[in-house]
Amino acid sequence: MRWKTSLSLAAAAPLAVAGLTFAAPAQADPPDGPGGGSCKTFDDPQWDGWTDHDELSQKLQQIESSSAGRVDVEQIGTTNLGRELWSARVGTGDRVLMVQSAIHGNERTGTEALLGILKDLGTSQDAATQDLLSSVTLVALPMVNPDGGELNRRMNVISWDEVAETYPQVADAPRAWYHRLSGDGIDLPGFDLNRDFNADLDYVPQAGDLPGRQVDAGFFLSPESRAIRDVYVDLRDEFGEVDGVVDLHHMGPCDRMTGGEQDGKLISVALDYPPLGVNDGAAYLDDWPLLDQDKSRRYALAAALGIQEAYGTQSPLAAVGRYYHPAAREYAGQGRSAFALNGSATVLFEVRGQQDDLGPKQRGMLVQSVRTGVESMLASMASGEVDQLDGDDFFALPDYGWDTNSD
Ligand SMILES: [Zn+2]
Repeated sequence: MRWKTSLSLAAAAPLAVAGLTFAAPAQADPPDGPGGGSCKTFDDPQWDGWTDHDELSQKLQQIESSSAGRVDVEQIGTTNLGRELWSARVGTGDRVLMVQSAIHGNERTGTEALLGILKDLGTSQDAATQDLLSSVTLVALPMVNPDGGELNRRMNVISWDEVAETYPQVADAPRAWYHRLSGDGIDLPGFDLNRDFNADLDYVPQAGDLPGRQVDAGFFLSPESRAIRDVYVDLRDEFGEVDGVVDLHHMGPCDRMTGGEQDGKLISVALDYPPLGVNDGAAYLDDWPLLDQDKSRRYALAAALGIQEAYGTQSPLAAVGRYYHPAAREYAGQGRSAFALNGSATVLFEVRGQQDDLGPKQRGMLVQSVRTGVESMLASMASGEVDQLDGDDFFALPDYGWDTNSD
């Protein structure tokens, strides 16, 4: 079933965003653009205008050097094809938010949003930013699947033989169910990395566990997912817990709001807490007592309310909904599932449209919505308001008409 409530989001408690200054929204949209009537898509196989891996490396170094020590950029690992995986950390507070983007290589708005956030937090001198940075720590992983990104595809690039070079015990085992020999029309093998996570963060692949199923945990078979896991474990060791984890994605290009003040309009961002099967993850609680689904909903709500407050509930930028969430849906191998089972609030952002579909105005608008959502979550963590929200109000967010689903 899908939850429906009559509670209007506007009735939920407004969220102050701690005086943070938000950058100006993108220009007004054309009649057939976001928020308008028809769903216009583009075909941009060259994905011009998006940050590629080389540019990301350069931009992060620039952000670090211009921040005068405020932003710390580190290499956290190396992809199977040898590209650097970067993290960028800013803030000194004792609440930590880890945000990753582009685990599906062709889902790119999150990378742009994170670069904007890091640049601002690295250089802004206003009191609100200083306050924020003394209360929270942001650890951004802005491009965690650059091998897929360079091919403009969802999967990473790794053969089963290469997996077995790291784990000889799986050489003759059936390939994991989420390993494919080609993807997005490109005949190179790889994983859907967002199925490669396991709540047992010490898990070592075992031949007898393969090939696994969608409802089972993943196996940490790829260097990219292991690098993300290692960042999480290090943060948990340092902070005691990782308060929040955000995973930035894209979905279909033509999804529309169903209900709410923008009924029928194109959605900008859909948000979700981890889909851990029926009964809100109850089946996992015996083994994973730290799971707190309501906490994940509070963090998602903080993002939604912050976006609405920043732009007004009628703005196309604030066409925020709840991700389509059939009750039986269960992806134990998603990172958000694994980290939620370890006690973190985890929030999925699904931005409308893959990058090939988006014209420049839509792109700018959607990057801004994502950015404001993450900034609002940080501000709400800093003020403590995220702890005071009612997670059930998340269910009041409008749904959307399901088009294609690519989380
Ligand atoms: Zn995705």
